Amino acid sequence: MVSLKKLAGLLIPGILLFPCLLGRAQVRPIPVQNSAPPPKSLFAQSATQVLEHEFKESGVSYLLFDARTEALLSSRWDDAARPIPLGSLVKPFTALAYAEANEFQYPTHVCRGEASGCWQLHPHGELDIITAIAVSCNSYFRALAEKLSGEKLLPTTRRFGLEAPDPGMTGPALMGLGDRWLISPLHMSHAYLELYRRREQPGVRELLAGMARSAQQGTGAGVGRALKHTDALVKTGTAPCTHLHPAPADGFVVALVPADQPEILLMIRVHGVAGAKASLMAGRMLSRMEE
Ligand SMILES: [Zn+2]
Repeated sequence: MVSLKKLAGLLIPGILLFPCLLGRAQVRPIPVQNSAPPPKSLFAQSATQVLEHEFKESGVSYLLFDARTEALLSSRWDDAARPIPLGSLVKPFTALAYAEANEFQYPTHVCRGEASGCWQLHPHGELDIITAIAVSCNSYFRALAEKLSGEKLLPTTRRFGLEAPDPGMTGPALMGLGDRWLISPLHMSHAYLELYRRREQPGVRELLAGMARSAQQGTGAGVGRALKHTDALVKTGTAPCTHLHPAPADGFVVALVPADQPEILLMIRVHGVAGAKASLMAGRMLSRMEE
């Protein structure tokens, strides 16, 4: 039997949220002139309630932020400050470091699948940076990382508040492969909020376009397909598991919702799956929030 309290908890977010999403198309928010932080959005309120009441699976960790104030709204993540491998979540920052050293010109690349070191058996074919981010192509990023070193990434990691890689680091570790570059999940969440804040800066627009495409048809499609009333910016990652009872890998997802003027950032980790699979869980969470 469903208690009244639980029923209210399920209904209230829906009632509150729906007008907010419906109104998005017509109403532009009025810029806040004073220095007080804006109040929690309805989306953020509903998201907190949904996560705390409905998603208690032991293999799922999450961090939920207000995208505008960067306040941590809700979390279930043991030791989220401890640096761990976060896989392909580093790729946008690796890409930006490359762009800054190359007049903001991103390369194109032909992925031949596993034969050129991609995670996917079948070739991704010819890719620009937008598609490479969307499908998280390892072949593209192997080629990009060959032109970089840990030292060349330092200005970017400093600017985005990320743990720096070892200055002598080279090769695929710079695109998040393996467990040599460790970053705190809290820092990574803030870095994505910072990336969105710098959306007008050279080299960033392409990365955010790649994250939008990821949600539509890339590794983050589990999020895009689940959302009915809004869309998202998504990046996924797969990394060696750091749980007490290790699995071969853990899947990671960062999702900013809505894609246009995000209200929340959700970062999750799902034990024992790849990032693309973890995006299904992120999609389930976010679709309950928008209901
Ligand atoms: Zn590929």
